[in-house]
Amino acid sequence: MKPLIIPVFIPNQGCPNVCIFCNQKKITGMTDLPGRDDVRRVIEEGTKGDGSLFYRKKSDKKKENRPLFSLFSASLNKPQRNTCFKEVAFYGGSFTGLDLKYQEELLGEGKKAIDSGLIEGIRISTRPDYINERVLKTLKAYGVRTIELGVQSFSDRVLESSKRGHNSSCIFNACEIIRESGFNLGIQLMMGLPQDSEETLIDSAEKAIGIKPNFVRIYPVLVLKDTELEELYLKGEYKPLSMEETIRIGKVMVKGFYMAGIPVIRFGLQPTDTINPDKDVIAGPFHPSLRHIIDSELAFEKMKMVIEANELSGRQVSFSVPKKEISIFQGIKKENIGRLKEVFGLRGIHFVVMKNAETGFSLPVR
Ligand code: SF4
Repeated sequence: MKPLIIPVFIPNQGCPNVCIFCNQKKITGMTDLPGRDDVRRVIEEGTKGDGSLFYRKKSDKKKENRPLFSLFSASLNKPQRNTCFKEVAFYGGSFTGLDLKYQEELLGEGKKAIDSGLIEGIRISTRPDYINERVLKTLKAYGVRTIELGVQSFSDRVLESSKRGHNSSCIFNACEIIRESGFNLGIQLMMGLPQDSEETLIDSAEKAIGIKPNFVRIYPVLVLKDTELEELYLKGEYKPLSMEETIRIGKVMVKGFYMAGIPVIRFGLQPTDTINPDKDVIAGPFHPSLRHIIDSELAFEKMKMVIEANELSGRQVSFSVPKKEISIFQGIKKENIGRLKEVFGLRGIHFVVMKNAETGFSLPVR
């Protein structure tokens, strides 16, 4: 069973400062603050049979909840026992930095929906320095089950350059008390912040794995209009990751999470009316199918490894893969097929649907 997330966006509220890369108003595409009635309406509409949502188009919701590829046995198709299946999510800004009365107004509406059986829990996103025992107690009382932390990096140098306003020990502390208090923990990481390097990125992924979150999201940095990062970029003082670097390093990070059994529920910002190169994306590794590219690269490596280990050069090979992963194994524009044929001189490659399997990998050889 896949989780249904019903999002309510609260743009750039509750933040003590503006991080160098952030234009939250543009990311969420709205500036009005939702109130109690909006939350009720979103929950009612989001839990209807058609799953239509108030603040998000149907097509976006479908993408959010699509099945996730899990080459290394990490998938939302196998949710952990403590994962809720229907949650209203207060995203954008820093929820626990909002005025307490406003927080309680929104949470109260969520709690009513929990008590009436419409949803099973509440999910919020916030900053590590806005988590403490008192905050967690309030969240618990209203039925919050999942906390997504905007960690971005575990490098103090990177955090400082990005004007995050907290250091890595604050992150470790927040993660620890969130886990100890029995919440589901999600970690958001960014790639390519100022002062980032391949080493800091891999190190951040390793540290995140060590914390054992329930899931992660990874966002390669895009230079957005009207941000401080845009100014630095235009002055030549900041250079975003190239697409090649993003795929090469992102692949290592994602593979690490898969191997640790940690679902990567998003890689790359979702394109919207404003998040696209014709609007607010000034520079950076933007691609609407970044996640598909990363997964296809991992699938290529997996097939390459199998062909090498079984000495299949010059042969005709069939791979048995779950139906929903066939396009991932074939690669964008079926590139993986051409690459493998070229590297190993294969006579042909075929994909057959693995029966009775959600995810997995096997190899019948003809
Ligand atoms: S804490 Fe999050 S929402 Fe607030 S300014 Fe920083 S990135 Fe934007």
